[in-house]
Amino acid sequence: MTEPRRLPYGHQFVGAADIEAVGEALRHDWITQGPRVADFERAIAEYCGAPHAVAFSSGTAALHGACAAAGLGPGDEAITSPLTFAATANAVVYCGARPVFADIDASTLNIDPAEIARRLSPRTRAVLPVDFAGLPVDLDAIGRLARERGLVVIEDAAHALGAEVQVKGAWERVGSAGAADMVVFSFHPVKHITTGEGGMVLTRSADLADRMRSFRHHGIRRDAALAERHGAWYYEIDQLGFNYRLTDFQCALGLSQLRQLTGFVARRTAIAERYRRELAGHGLGVQEWDARRFKHAWHLFTIQLPLSQLRGTRRQIFDALTARGVGVQVHYIPVYHHPFYQRLGHRTGECPVTERYYASALTLPLYPGMTDDDVSRVIDTVLAVLKEHRGA
Ligand SMILES: *Cc1c(COP(=O)(O)O)cnc(C)c1O
Repeated sequence: MTEPRRLPYGHQFVGAADIEAVGEALRHDWITQGPRVADFERAIAEYCGAPHAVAFSSGTAALHGACAAAGLGPGDEAITSPLTFAATANAVVYCGARPVFADIDASTLNIDPAEIARRLSPRTRAVLPVDFAGLPVDLDAIGRLARERGLVVIEDAAHALGAEVQVKGAWERVGSAGAADMVVFSFHPVKHITTGEGGMVLTRSADLADRMRSFRHHGIRRDAALAERHGAWYYEIDQLGFNYRLTDFQCALGLSQLRQLTGFVARRTAIAERYRRELAGHGLGVQEWDARRFKHAWHLFTIQLPLSQLRGTRRQIFDALTARGVGVQVHYIPVYHHPFYQRLGHRTGECPVTERYYASALTLPLYPGMTDDDVSRVIDTVLAVLKEHRGA
């Protein structure tokens, strides 16, 4: 008997057209800062409906750039969700500021605005909500708080390229940066589209975009007035920056991937809808939201196990699924559980809703290359494993 193919929880979809596009870009002189960088920025900005987009070498670098442009520094606090990849909070720490975690809403799994309000202090300077699993966070209440208190809103939309929000009767894409000052995407291979590593920040502010362009390029300022005064070679380091540039051939891949995004999101949505339909009625918890206001982009499909009705632990169920080739994962370990964050003074118990969610959570495989048979296999295996562990 041959072992069934192992299904990972996420996987890129790279086809012949993508490979062709990268090969074509590599035949040109400018393999790092060539014309495709601006082309890719313009294409994402247009897709999302935002005027400015700044590409970075990763989503993490993009978050760092956004936090730096927001002016976060020592003595400042930034409120974020504990249910995220640690990069969201790490970016705050890179700037010398302190991340503060506000608990999630048990049904949407996104940060709860009432919890943000409870954690505001005179030092709060920014809020970094996360569109968990691809469900847009509700920015109405967060935006109101931000305006009252003069806070910068940086939306971590690493999961949500292609998601939409109802705004005054019309659908707007996440990334239009209407309600957030800056919106951050990641192009890591498990995300909706990939550039290998890569990320981008969208904003309506030309000033924030300028600061981020300089930040990703060593803090360099170079313009006609400086050249006129000092010579054509002249530039100035205006702030401490980094080398966070995305390359031309990566942007060629991004442009080719973007042309397939609508299909990717449609396929992810079809798979998620099957999961919801066919796993319903087995006591599993799933993310819930108001479909009249939000269109989910389905980066992740997470379930919550009915542990009180099961004999097994989450770990036993995780291991049983893994042993049968279903590559489950857990998203996420609450960020403040990590030893580094505990050393910063964070404590277990800070966000009880997140901790309860984490205790029973599993992520099922979800990526555009899954066949209908792969999806059936995941559903059948989950139901079989649950059945074997029934009865407390
Ligand atoms: C993937 C991800 C990031 C980081 O993106 P990279 O491109 O891997 O650096 C940040 N936040 C969230 C929520 C993510 O899922």
